[in-house]
Amino acid sequence: MAKHDAIIIGTGQAGPALARRLVAADWNIAIIERKLFGGTCVNTGCTPTKTLVASAYAAHIARRARDYGVKIEGPINIDMKAVKARKDAVVAPSRNGVERSLKTLKGCTVYESHARFVAEKSITVNDAELTADRIFLNVGARAAIPPIPGLNQVSYLTNSSMMDVDFLPPHLVILGGSYIGLEFGQMYRRFGSKVTIIELGPRLIAREDEDISQAIADFLREEGVDLRLDCKVIGVEKQDNSIVVKIECGGKASQVIGTHLLVAVGRRPNTDDLDLDKAGITTDAHGYIQVDDQLRTSASGIWALGDCNGRGAFTHTSWNDFEIVAANLLDNAQRRVSDRISAYALFTDPPLGRAGMTEAQVRNSGKPALIATMAMEDVSRASEKGETKGFMKILVDRDSKQILGAALLGLSGDEVIHCILDVMYAKAPCTVLQRAMHIHPTVSEFIPTMLEDLRPLQ
Ligand SMILES: Cc1cc2nc3c(=O)[nH]c(=O)nc-3n(C[C@H](O)[C@H](O)[C@H](O)COP(=O)(O)OP(=O)(O)OC[C@H]3O[C@@H](n4cnc5c(N)ncnc54)[C@H](O)[C@@H]3O)c2cc1C
Repeated sequence: MAKHDAIIIGTGQAGPALARRLVAADWNIAIIERKLFGGTCVNTGCTPTKTLVASAYAAHIARRARDYGVKIEGPINIDMKAVKARKDAVVAPSRNGVERSLKTLKGCTVYESHARFVAEKSITVNDAELTADRIFLNVGARAAIPPIPGLNQVSYLTNSSMMDVDFLPPHLVILGGSYIGLEFGQMYRRFGSKVTIIELGPRLIAREDEDISQAIADFLREEGVDLRLDCKVIGVEKQDNSIVVKIECGGKASQVIGTHLLVAVGRRPNTDDLDLDKAGITTDAHGYIQVDDQLRTSASGIWALGDCNGRGAFTHTSWNDFEIVAANLLDNAQRRVSDRISAYALFTDPPLGRAGMTEAQVRNSGKPALIATMAMEDVSRASEKGETKGFMKILVDRDSKQILGAALLGLSGDEVIHCILDVMYAKAPCTVLQRAMHIHPTVSEFIPTMLEDLRPLQ
């Protein structure tokens, strides 16, 4: 049995960074990856999708060229093979970089196979048995496949298999109107597919405020995405070269016939094939590994980082998990997950940047609060760029004047949100931001202006 100071399972966002920190502290470690180095973000998540979103944006702007006084003669054609090749060219260096950096890291042994527990501190991988006093799980998540009758009899796509698509699906039907479904939906519509998104709930991305869901639905519909809300999928079947999705919308049965089907109804953690029980590691009802505020599992000396712990589902939360664990272990720090502020983006065009509480959460909390809103039509930079869809809102605690949350749906909302997020981390009153001099002409210059106009949240 090979003994290491630590074993890391999974090379997602937390594992490789942790490997580097531990080795720098003279630990002898093993890291195990069963598939693609770099995990979801690099191979089938953030990097490839945002690269594809960029191609779709180029197509969209090309079609709108006349709005800018630019004449393009002839139709706009999308070369899907070139789109995929561009995506692959962006992804490959990241994946190879992670692999190379781990394989050349002194003090780090890389195993390429599926790992599972055989006992509390023992793991099998290939024919080897490894043991360590400290084990870190960074096993991530995968697309959840709902038990829809007939689904297993048709060939459906997930975010992973979408990465191999190098052709234009004539009619892409997407199950799920949340973050992943919406990004793919707008992207493929812009590439030229007919797109239908089927969502069980009465509105898109139910986690967001209603006005945000509505505005996103409006701009997607304007681009020609067919949204079927409040619709339950009751069955799927193949018919010649088509896929028939049977739905029930408001009690009425109907169907959508598409050529390709993307399942994007959520994620499930990769914890069902680790034999966690052999190590005494407990999970919740959805399979997420239960951790405390410092990411320690129920088994001593074992931590869970990233999507598998259910404490975040983003690259930055996984990376932050790495920072917390490394700082607590190596720097004698006392960092906690609860110290972080919820922040993320939806990378539609325009994007949504989010920090802290939603308006609905503020209302439910009963806190006396103030709100400021601004339509992107009133933002000069947005007019100059001809991208005026969306609006911004900021919520502030009436008494402390600290910012409670913000939603910026509009041009550069994914970037501008950080000026709000940093003031929230500083726990500074919003007057600090209100008096800051921002650069003209930017979207950010309107954040101080908005804060001049706070009114009670009724
Ligand atoms: C389509 C899509 C778009 C996304 N876009 C964004 C975005 O824009 N921004 C953002 O912040 N987040 C985004 N995310 C989420 C983000 O990709 C993940 O939150 C992020 O990758 C964190 O993953 P992780 O570190 O938990 O593990 P992962 O990156 O999932 O890596 C886990 C690794 O563990 C390996 N593994 C699993 N089990 C075993 C085992 N038993 N033995 C050996 N190896 C194992 C897997 O092969 C995998 O490589 C997106 C996700 C998807 C699906």
